Amino acid sequence: MPTAIARVSCPVCHTEFQTYIEQVLDARVDPGAKNRVLSGAVNVAVCPRCGNGGSLNLPFIYHDPDHEVALLYLPMESGRSEIERQRFAGVLTQQLMNSLAPEERRGYLLQPETFVTMESLVRRALEIEGVTEEEMQRSQDQRELVSRLLEAEPDAWDALIAENESLIDEGFFGLIQYLLQVTGAEPEAASEAGAEDEEAPVSAEAEPFRRLYLHLIEKHPVGQRLVARTAVVRIFADNPSAETLLQALVEATDTETVNMLVQMGAKAMDYRFFQLLLQRVETAETPEEQTRLKALRRQVLDRREVLNKAGQDLAEERLDLLDKLMSSEDPLKMARSHLSEIDEAFMYLLQTQLQEAQKLDDKPLLEALNRVVAVLNRLSEEAMPPEMLFVRRLLAAPDEEQLVEFLRENQPLLQPQLFEFLEALEQETRERGDTGVADRLALARQKAQELAGPMEPAASSLKAPTASRPAADLDEGQRQTPSGLIISRR
Ligand SMILES: [Zn+2]
Repeated sequence: MPTAIARVSCPVCHTEFQTYIEQVLDARVDPGAKNRVLSGAVNVAVCPRCGNGGSLNLPFIYHDPDHEVALLYLPMESGRSEIERQRFAGVLTQQLMNSLAPEERRGYLLQPETFVTMESLVRRALEIEGVTEEEMQRSQDQRELVSRLLEAEPDAWDALIAENESLIDEGFFGLIQYLLQVTGAEPEAASEAGAEDEEAPVSAEAEPFRRLYLHLIEKHPVGQRLVARTAVVRIFADNPSAETLLQALVEATDTETVNMLVQMGAKAMDYRFFQLLLQRVETAETPEEQTRLKALRRQVLDRREVLNKAGQDLAEERLDLLDKLMSSEDPLKMARSHLSEIDEAFMYLLQTQLQEAQKLDDKPLLEALNRVVAVLNRLSEEAMPPEMLFVRRLLAAPDEEQLVEFLRENQPLLQPQLFEFLEALEQETRERGDTGVADRLALARQKAQELAGPMEPAASSLKAPTASRPAADLDEGQRQTPSGLIISRR
């Protein structure tokens, strides 16, 4: 999806930082986009130094192909006049259209539903998801409770929680976990968000969330249940086998945990697993235990059947996608706009279809399938960091002469950073036992260094921002958002 970069200044500590902004969000390309829209957290920026943050309040278009809707967010500040705002709407709609293969461009895309407030857009998005009025109210109440807890002193927490006991469920914990991520208190989540250059310390804003979370996990039964679930799931996840799966299932105390384990453990559920389970039932020490284990076995079998059915439906959907890719006028765009569906199930299907076509010696089918493979290779190159892409092409050179030729064409890239990267990769490959590739990497590095000649330790980086373009359509000059963050045009 087209992403852009905005420069943002923090009004609190005056740090200037860059952040990705999203203009086109597509639920099928990026399932996370739906969550960001539903929680109203699109184009949110957090200062890497002080943790101050908030919405940048920028226009975007959200596409949900499954429900055939496009929602356009066009805040009043997005243009000085109605004409300017309409022009902006046109640009975003066009961007969305252009991201789709011709045969998937539909009429509804040209008339997106338009919203001037984030709140009304979120309400509509929730409605599309089939969330009821009561559920929305409940989620609103949960948000308010979190705010009140954060404002209160920690020794008042238990009383507040007791007063609002009916609001505390797994969803409530999910909300706090989500807020932990948004405020950058969770290290993994922070690095995912794209700010790779600096490690974000736990900000002052995030600390109360974390303390509240730890308190609830320790004191509240729902929190304790979640902790217990994590412990049970880890028995299997840390050391997957039929035995650990069985042990985890027997120790699981609620349906949700059992269902999770059945899903995670699909591969470990072989004939031997069911024999072990049956043995456990037969050798139970008390009649009560036997009844419990019988019920567990029933639940495992039922759940597995549900998952198998879902697996068949999935395979049919992927077959449908493969057909579309083979017949599309623009298979690359088709693939890009179905990115989240090009998964393990799809790759497995493609593999089996290729084998089948080879066996039958069906040349036209084989050609069509190989075109899809070529499209997928292009797609994975697009997602690759430039260094990896370079190495991939380097390794594709059939002989030494063409290798040197390729290096000569890319002379400007032959920098110390690249040599270091090649060396690290070579080492890693050698440790994996892939001597052939490691030797070729060593040769490539030697040739590259010869071509580069002696040089100063250069400061320029290989990392060209290929995936990002400057935000061409933002307002001119600087603009302060309601959250206080200042966006400046680069
Ligand atoms: Zn700041």
